[in-house]
Amino acid sequence: MRIVDIIERSVPLEGAISNAVVSFTDHDVSLVAVVSDVVRNGRPVIGFGFNSIGRYAQRGILRDRIIPRLKAAAPQALLDDNGKAFDPAKVLAVALTNEKPGGHGDRAGAIAAVELAFWDLNAKLADEPAYLTIARAAGRPDVQPAVPVYAAGGYYYPQGSGKTLTDELLGYRDQGFDAFKIKIGGAPMAADMARIEEALAVAGHGKRLSVDANGRFDIDAALAYARAIEGYDLRWYEEVGDPLDYDLNRQLTELYSRPVATGENLFSRQDVKNLLLFGGLRPGRDIFQMDAGLSYGLSEYMAMLDLLEQSGFDRAQAFPHGGHLINLHIAAGLGLGGCEAYPGVFQPFGGYPSACPVGGGWVRPSDAPGFGLEQKPEIAAIIKTLCI
Ligand code: MG
Repeated sequence: MRIVDIIERSVPLEGAISNAVVSFTDHDVSLVAVVSDVVRNGRPVIGFGFNSIGRYAQRGILRDRIIPRLKAAAPQALLDDNGKAFDPAKVLAVALTNEKPGGHGDRAGAIAAVELAFWDLNAKLADEPAYLTIARAAGRPDVQPAVPVYAAGGYYYPQGSGKTLTDELLGYRDQGFDAFKIKIGGAPMAADMARIEEALAVAGHGKRLSVDANGRFDIDAALAYARAIEGYDLRWYEEVGDPLDYDLNRQLTELYSRPVATGENLFSRQDVKNLLLFGGLRPGRDIFQMDAGLSYGLSEYMAMLDLLEQSGFDRAQAFPHGGHLINLHIAAGLGLGGCEAYPGVFQPFGGYPSACPVGGGWVRPSDAPGFGLEQKPEIAAIIKTLCI
């Protein structure tokens, strides 16, 4: 068994929205197809993956470095010991050939898109949904496919767009969500407090509402907001300062008694190790949001989870960033606390197909082989143009 081609396509994201730091209007995503030489029903078995959402496609790194290395590798260099499946850890090792350690930036997302496509391919070769493949690889035979999800939105819309926060959250509630996350830090504090009050009127309780500052605050702003929101008893206070400012996070957790969340911009196990050592995170309380699609793929993400558990944390504290099908399968297969969902934004990749209805704040992957990306019509339309 071998790979006959690897194809990358940069796909623009739809939607003029922004958080406290960035506008998403020119963001795109690398969709990758890994074409195997296995033919079923007259067609090659192909794995698809992408590098999560909210950043940029990585066509240069993929086309110039990563894809040529993988295509040049001997077939057995990418296979597991019995030759019946591809070994994602070996894929990662080959992809990293001649790459220096450290500096985990866009390279981590580029490799993730390919590594995740190999998981999709493995699941299709086994003719099973990806969460079962993932659970087996992680030694978790008693997998429970239903996953708690919350609707991540509450962005800052352009003035005059006619959209309101209340309308947005009510729309999510109508779709079956009972927990929400909104952005803060992109408006003066008084305006953000009004946004929180508006969102709480829909959520009903602070435990069903999180807020995300997207790394915007310095320590003074971080603590000022912490004091202002403490009484709301929010579910969590997310990515408050620069993602690599572990000392800020430590100071925050010393003052703020409610849960904090961070990690979506940590792209390696070493970064997570440093967060655990210096970030002041609290077992049983705080939330980890590392995202396989931004951090070399699922092999690296599983190593991060091992670090968490070795440090006294529970995988129920892991809620990956990235509200899409791939992370739904990962959360189900690994038994994580849950994951976010993007029901109304970041199309074509955000949210779930009709085969995965949300109800009561829960969703479960369908039984389609792999990540089931082909079941989402918006993604399927792009896949059709990609292959073959
Ligand atoms: Mg976030």
